[in-house]
Amino acid sequence: MKTNIFLEEAQALVLDRVYPGQECYISLDDAMGRVLSQDIQAGENSPPFDKSPLDGYALQAKDTETAGQPGGVKLHVIEEVRAGYTPTRKVTSGTVIKVMTGAPLPEGADVVVKYEVVDRTGDYIRIGYTLQAGSNMIQAGEDIVKGETVAVKGTLLTPPLIGLLASIGIAKVPVFKEVKIAILSTGDELVDPAQELQPGKIFNSNLHSLRASCLKLGAQPVSFGIVPDNEAATAERITEALQKTDMVITTGGVSAGDYDVVLDALHKIGANIIFWKVDMKPGSPIVAAEKDNKLIIALSGNPAAAFITFDLIAVPSIKKMMGLGSQLPLKVSATFVGHFDKESPQRRFLRAQIYRKSDKNYIKLTGKQSNGILKSLLSCNALIDVPAGSGRLISGQKVSAVLIGSIDEYS
Ligand code: AMP
Ligand code: MG
Repeated sequence: MKTNIFLEEAQALVLDRVYPGQECYISLDDAMGRVLSQDIQAGENSPPFDKSPLDGYALQAKDTETAGQPGGVKLHVIEEVRAGYTPTRKVTSGTVIKVMTGAPLPEGADVVVKYEVVDRTGDYIRIGYTLQAGSNMIQAGEDIVKGETVAVKGTLLTPPLIGLLASIGIAKVPVFKEVKIAILSTGDELVDPAQELQPGKIFNSNLHSLRASCLKLGAQPVSFGIVPDNEAATAERITEALQKTDMVITTGGVSAGDYDVVLDALHKIGANIIFWKVDMKPGSPIVAAEKDNKLIIALSGNPAAAFITFDLIAVPSIKKMMGLGSQLPLKVSATFVGHFDKESPQRRFLRAQIYRKSDKNYIKLTGKQSNGILKSLLSCNALIDVPAGSGRLISGQKVSAVLIGSIDEYS
């Protein structure tokens, strides 16, 4: 069993042990947040035909060559085409077809003139200037050309991608199977927020924050409730969770205290312990283990520690299981604003908010940094990565940070 390892080694050790699940086809309307399991090629042009971008008249540009002369040119309106219908006639010299926005361009026409700029009398229009062939036309395939690769395997399905797939007539998409993540809280002191608080007890927040993290990611959380600080009960609940899900996340009971029984419970069920403890603060007491080709990641019970180590160590492997092409959190550098007065003998991750000003990244702390503080996670979109052996942080100093939200999320 490895112990006290670097975060990057911990991330790699768990990532190496997981793979994307099976593929299935699902309805486009259920695909939001899922991940493509195949490249998608367009079977159609989008739009499928040349069309008019406005209400106007389709004609031949050469008919307007003399339109600059007094009186302009007079052309005969021979048909009207609405969006959703097709022309029955061709445009020939001297004739025009009235087209509405979205209507297919009639054969023979090479330009559309705006409705507002012509004079119409009866079945004739008069145009007072010369038009350029090709203006005011949307070409077939302007957005997507038939045969084009529109998205590759490993891409997250987002609202614009779903719209784009619909625009080329894709109603079912190949995606990776949904990933089920068991969330289990350990601790005699825990009660669910739906229960009455008794003396000495606290509400279980980890189960709920980690469930929400899974949902945000697009994984399916499965709650396995609260288990007391008891080795046999913990072993039994982890076994049940392993049978029903693809990965198990537990919180609490992984330090070296008398009632920290999770490591023993993992030994008891015959799990292979991959590592115990990562050299970082918060959340150093973390265990990763494997059983039946499934990962068990046991996090510290301290709410902020559990949340942060989940993001840094569990999320990359969950993303890989979901089939996402990119897994590790992005690293950015920024100028620190404010002060942090503690020294950092151990590598430390500070809850912070990164923001952009005049094209530069700045980062400030979001509040108290103790293990149990959840409030400073509320506006946190990045964690400052303070190397072991660092002194105090002062304004103006360059720091590196790991993005755990979007950079403009709170700016
Ligand atoms: P542990 O990791 O079990 O030593 O717990 C560390 C601290 O986190 C203790 O103060 C626990 O009471 C608290 N804690 C453990 N599990 C949870 C939880 N699920 N929700 C909120 N606090 C917790
Ligand atoms: Mg405990």
